[in-house]
This record gives sequence, structure tokens and C-alpha cells, in this order.
Amino acid sequence: MGKKVIVIGGGLGALSGAIRLAKMGFRVQLFEQNEKLGGKMSEFISGQYRFDTGPSLLTMDFVVDDLFNFAGFDRPNLLKFIPIDPICRYFFPDGSVMDTSSNIEKMINAINDLSPFDAGSYKKYLKYCERIYNLTADIFLFTPIHEIKKVIKKGNPSILFKLYQMDPFHSFHQGVSKFFSDPRLIQLFDRYATYNGSDPFQAPATLNIISYVEYGLGAYYIKGGMYRLVNAMEEIAKKMGIEILKSTKVEKILWSDKEVKGVVVNNEKILSDYVLCGSDVVTAYNSLIDGFHNHRKKLNNFEPSLSGMVFLWGINKKNPELKHHNIIFSSDYKKEFRQIFKELKVPDEPTIYISITSKTDPEHASINGENWFVLVNVPYLSNGQDDQFWNNEIDRMRSVIFNRLKGIGIDISSNIEVEKIITPLDFLRNYASNRGSIYGISSNNMSMAFKRPANRSRDIKGLYFAGGSVHPGGGIPLVMLSGKMSAELINESEKMEK
Ligand SMILES: Cc1cc2nc3c(=O)[nH]c(=O)nc-3n(C[C@H](O)[C@H](O)[C@H](O)COP(=O)(O)OP(=O)(O)OC[C@H]3O[C@@H](n4cnc5c(N)ncnc54)[C@H](O)[C@@H]3O)c2cc1C
Repeated sequence: MGKKVIVIGGGLGALSGAIRLAKMGFRVQLFEQNEKLGGKMSEFISGQYRFDTGPSLLTMDFVVDDLFNFAGFDRPNLLKFIPIDPICRYFFPDGSVMDTSSNIEKMINAINDLSPFDAGSYKKYLKYCERIYNLTADIFLFTPIHEIKKVIKKGNPSILFKLYQMDPFHSFHQGVSKFFSDPRLIQLFDRYATYNGSDPFQAPATLNIISYVEYGLGAYYIKGGMYRLVNAMEEIAKKMGIEILKSTKVEKILWSDKEVKGVVVNNEKILSDYVLCGSDVVTAYNSLIDGFHNHRKKLNNFEPSLSGMVFLWGINKKNPELKHHNIIFSSDYKKEFRQIFKELKVPDEPTIYISITSKTDPEHASINGENWFVLVNVPYLSNGQDDQFWNNEIDRMRSVIFNRLKGIGIDISSNIEVEKIITPLDFLRNYASNRGSIYGISSNNMSMAFKRPANRSRDIKGLYFAGGSVHPGGGIPLVMLSGKMSAELINESEKMEK
């Protein structure tokens, strides 16, 4: 019988790791504190309205396919990925509108309509992003970068001599500004830094790979809702014999002689050979792992990523001006990020993201209605940001959003039938996210962008980590890669023991 692995949490990172481990022959027991799996990828249903409460866009779809193939399942049989075109409709402060596409010709035409002078630059920008992706992806996304032997084995150290080609010494914003002159296009591409919770004015230009991932590799919606991915993964996990215990919180990770022994659940010790922790690594060191004060201190000094405030609105009205994904940009992006990351303030005038899955799946809303997922970027939690604080911000933000919508000719203030609001306090309470952050640690400098905490613990033998707070980072594909790396490291460790 295979060795036993306890998996903490049913987020996408841990769940991917669990599935791979089961396939590799380990006995896997997974504990999730909530009633359902998926962590931040979740779903809310009220009356005739259905909402995804977390991710709304899938990139690097091949990462999902790789997991399903590994487990022996045919992804297209279980899930349909729908390419979204336009990917997003952008509303700029001056009243102009632009639709983006992963079709190069369509994109050039759209840029040409907005800013003819910049139309010729798009291909060059995409090439620049692609080059960085080709240089960095293998070592920084697909390899557990802290495992120096693996890095050397791949012959990857030579990449370090090409460091300057990855543009690490410019900010994301400076990288984009080299190609475009129109401030609207710069704002549009700057936005991609937020895909992993970072500030475009601080994060390294290397992260422009994110634009390539969306425009070069494609952007998808999952038919029936993003949460169908969790349903499919849960089905696979069960078929593979993984024991899933929901509504069960792990209280401690047990270790002695610098070796993991298991976990404590409901005051009971449950022993295992390995533990794969999918809880945020900072939270894990703060509340699940005793000892290691210096490491805990170091982790707590890392800057958390962005958080968000989400309004889920069931609206009894169709809004043909909007697409499946929409952005209403703020008039001062620099100020928005200064307020978020430097002043730790909810921005006065945030950029507003609206995703409406009923544009693609009409059954997600009432017959004449729409299901709006509205997200504004806000800072991670700081002192004094209690329930009262967020209640005040909710009221303020609701009217800010209504006013901005009126600015683009949309009034929904008397059309909301269903409302649910999610604040950073919910990310902290529901998913144990460090300081309510969405993507774990920010990537506001080169070191944090590409060298997050490791997948294998150096403190405790047999303890591994998956999820957005560890390498290679946040977002659906990257957390799934973290689960893959941890599972492979556990498997290799086991082979070495034999
Ligand atoms: C509003 C929002 C929008 C987003 N949009 C996108 C997007 O469009 N595209 C994209 O790719 N990504 C997006 N993301 C990011 C993406 O959702 C996350 O990066 C990813 O889902 C995080 O996965 P994770 O493995 O880190 O686990 P998490 O989702 O953080 O889940 C961790 C799980 O562990 C459980 N847990 C923690 N501690 C314990 C314990 N002690 N015992 C038992 N269980 C425990 C928690 O309850 C939780 O279920 C978005 C996220 C949010 C919130």
C-alpha cells in the first residue's frame, strides 16, 4: 500500500496536487474547512441567478489539460472551454471604447480605431512579451525554481546570462510605454500586472508575459461557469479514491525532529508520511506550524498581493452595451495604485471590472436579466479595517460604481434583484488568505515576482506547499502548476527513500 499524504485545503493548487499524488500511487486524504471544494474558485446561486465568485477567465488552458491527461481523463469530455471574443470591452475615461481580441488582425484594427499611430506597435509588443515568455516560462513557471539540481539538470542556469532580455530592471508600466504612446493603450496593457495581484508601476516589466499568455495563448470561459472546473476535479479525485473530508479544519501540522508527522483535526492526531499544505504559506506559519520564528517573521514581511471587493448583482435588465468581460478604467491609474499599495486605502476612483456569464450562458440569469460579477481592486487588510470599515466602504463603493456606470449610459440602480458582497475580510475568513489578499504575495519586485516561497519546506522534511502564495504564483494555471511541482517532489523524495 502506498505511503499516506494528507492534503490541507481543497483550493485548486492542493486539489491538483492531490489528484496527481493519487495517480502516483499515494493514499491521499484531503481536509477542507469549508462545505465545498475550490477555495477562491466558488459559486453562488440565488433564485434565478448563478454567479462565479472568484476567477472569471482561464488562461494557459493546456495546464488543465495536462492534469486531466495525467489522471487519465479526457478534458473535453468533462469540460468545454469557450474562447472569448472579444476578450474584454474597455471603457476609457474620455468616453472611448475598445474591444480586445486574441486575433491579431482584429486587435490591430481595434488599436487603429483608437490610436492609429500605435497600431504598428502591437505586433512588436506581442513579440516582446512572447520573447520574455519563451525565456522565462520553462524555468520560472514550469520548474520548482528552488530545487537547484533541477534547474541545473535542465541546463537552465545559462538563462541567467540572458537576464537583461527579460527586462527585469524596468517597471511593467515602463515596459509597456516603450511600445505605445496613447495613454489609453498604456493603461490597457498595464492592467495585466493586476492578474497576479501586482502594481504596474512597481512590478518588473518581465511580467508582461501575462499579456502574451492572454493575447498569444488565448483566453477562455468554461461552459456552465468557471466552477465547473472544481466539479470536474472533485469527480476525478473521488474516482481516484481520494478521501475528501469537507467542513473539517486542520488545526496544526505535526512535526518532530524536523520531520512532518501528520496533522491535528478536531483535537485528534492524524498521522501521515507527507503533508501537502494548500493553505496560504504565511497563514500556515502563523497558525498551523509551531516554532520557526525567524522564517515566520520573514514570511510576514513579504508584501501581500492586491485584494478585491466583489459585488454580485442579479439584474432584471439586459445591457447590450456590455460584453462578457468589461473594464471601466479610472481616470488616474497611478493614483489608484498609489492609494492601494502605498496608502493602503480603498481607491477614491477604482477601475471597475464587470463579468457577465449570462452573456454566454443565458440560463445564469432571469429571462430578461443578467448576472453581474463586479470587482474593484482594493488593498490587502491593514489595521482598523474591520466589519464596520468595510460596511462603510461597501456603501461608498456601490454609489461610486452606480455613478461610473451612469457615465457610460447604464443605470442599474433600481434593477438589482439579488445582491451579495465579498470583501477582503471574507477572503481572510473563508479561505485563510493572508491579510485577505487574493494572490498570496505581490510581485512588486523581481525577487517576489519569480522567487516566491518554495514548494518544499526547508524547515520540515516531508512538508510541501501548493497554492497562490508559493512558487510559481497566483491564478488558476499557476496554482495548478504548484500542485504539480509539489506532487512530483513528493514522488521523487519517496523514490529516493526506497
Ligand atoms: C475575485 C477573484 C477573482 C479572480 N480572478 C481570476 C481569474 O479571472 N483568473 C485566474 O486565473 N485567477 C483568478 N483569481 C485567482 C484564483 O482564484 C486563485 O489564484 C486560485 O483559485 C487560488 O488557489 P489556491 O490553490 O491558492 O487555493 P485557495 O483558493 O486559496 O484555497 C485554499 C483552500 O484551503 C482551505 N484551507 C485553508 N486553511 C485550511 C485549514 N487549516 N484546514 C482546512 N482547509 C483549509 C480554504 O478553505 C480554501 O478552500 C481570482 C481570485 C479571486 C478571489
